[in-house]
Amino acid sequence: MSKNEIQRREFLKRMGIGSIALGAGLGIPKVLAETDNGFLVENKEQYGMTPVELLSGKEFPYQIKPDILKNMPNRMTVFSRDGWDPVRREERKKVREAQGGRSMFQINMIDKKGKSPNQTRLDYALMQASWATAHMDPFYNWETQSYSIKQLAEFGKWDPSDNDLSWEEASVALKHASLFYGASLAGIAKYNPLWVYDEYIHAQEGSNRKLIPENISNVIALAFEEDYDGICNSPGRLASAATGDGYSRMAVTAHKVAEFIRALGYQAIPAGNGTALSIPIAIDAGLGELGRNGLLVTPKYGPRVRIAKVFTDMPLVPDPPIRFGVKEFCDSCMICAKDCPSGSISVDEQTWEGKSVSNSNGAKKWYIQPEPCNDYNGFSCSNCKRNCPFNKPNNSWIHKLIRDNINLKSKALDKIMVKMDAASGYGVEVQASEFWEKDGKASITSRDPQA
Ligand code: SF4
Ligand code: SF4
Repeated sequence: MSKNEIQRREFLKRMGIGSIALGAGLGIPKVLAETDNGFLVENKEQYGMTPVELLSGKEFPYQIKPDILKNMPNRMTVFSRDGWDPVRREERKKVREAQGGRSMFQINMIDKKGKSPNQTRLDYALMQASWATAHMDPFYNWETQSYSIKQLAEFGKWDPSDNDLSWEEASVALKHASLFYGASLAGIAKYNPLWVYDEYIHAQEGSNRKLIPENISNVIALAFEEDYDGICNSPGRLASAATGDGYSRMAVTAHKVAEFIRALGYQAIPAGNGTALSIPIAIDAGLGELGRNGLLVTPKYGPRVRIAKVFTDMPLVPDPPIRFGVKEFCDSCMICAKDCPSGSISVDEQTWEGKSVSNSNGAKKWYIQPEPCNDYNGFSCSNCKRNCPFNKPNNSWIHKLIRDNINLKSKALDKIMVKMDAASGYGVEVQASEFWEKDGKASITSRDPQA
């Protein structure tokens, strides 16, 4: 038996992958090397050109302190607080006063007559329309409203062996369906109730809010690539258009994935930003690592993604978490922190707790300050996505760096490389006029998925 074959067999054994049909792009990556914690692999569809370490043991790419980590209350997120917290009302009042009592919309559309560069009426129209399906509640219903789905669900819980499939293969099929319905990335995590917002896991006095049922066992994490040129227009309005488009696609796709699961006779609860913290679920599901910018950094798209999730009782096979050196890179890089216009990103070491009441404490990470971030530029900024070296498609020196440091233990970053990257013009704001001059076929929803 060849060395490659032994390595492959060992990989399948340690990853708990049994009888999966070999050759399925989503299922079996190419093994490059065995590492201390698992395997270094390549899988163009899932990870782009980035080599990734699959963690086969118990080690997750984050540490938690169970005595500090508690269920985050949804009402304490900065978006919720904007609606009820007098402290936030006062902060937002000051922001408005600093703008002469005008909203960004009034400034750009009325005072400047929709002619200000990167804030034109055309740019605003793209942004407003991009949110069209983002907040349509029916997409996030906990139960189906469809007769045809109920009709299939009445056959009871689907058993993959009826179709000569294992549960590993059924899990690949579920991820395949997720991509078919519009997700850019899909992964499966074991359900961890700690990531659920407090209101959805503990009954609240006087509330009739539904709780996540106890039989939920897994979560499907779905990531949605945001348009590269749109995000690179940040802090122009086209970055918000890319964001809104991500939210709208999240809602539609999460709904369809949930309906697919329900048609197979299982429970499905789709969620966008609500119900639970998305980033730790996505990390558990092997979609990426947490960056200094407080965002999920994926191997294929960097931090340029939005995340949705679907909770289910379907007995799927979870994916291993991954590592590709984000923590080590962020230790030295700091580009996002230095360039953040609101000073919301930490330049310090990682900590166990943040400074804001809207931080979810108890994991060792870089805590961002969500209030000044949310108040900057009328909630319209993606600079920390635009500037991040992981955002750059096929950033070849990052791939080489990871490949050369297989065990990912060394302080891998050569700061000169970051400087060279910046000197090459990467990370600068793309003007909206350049965006509009481009062929629409370059947008993420129409381009060749292999490109
Ligand atoms: S979105 Fe903008 S303001 Fe907020 S943390 Fe990122 S760079 Fe800073
Ligand atoms: S810009 Fe640099 S420090 Fe910030 S998340 Fe990206 S790699 Fe990490």
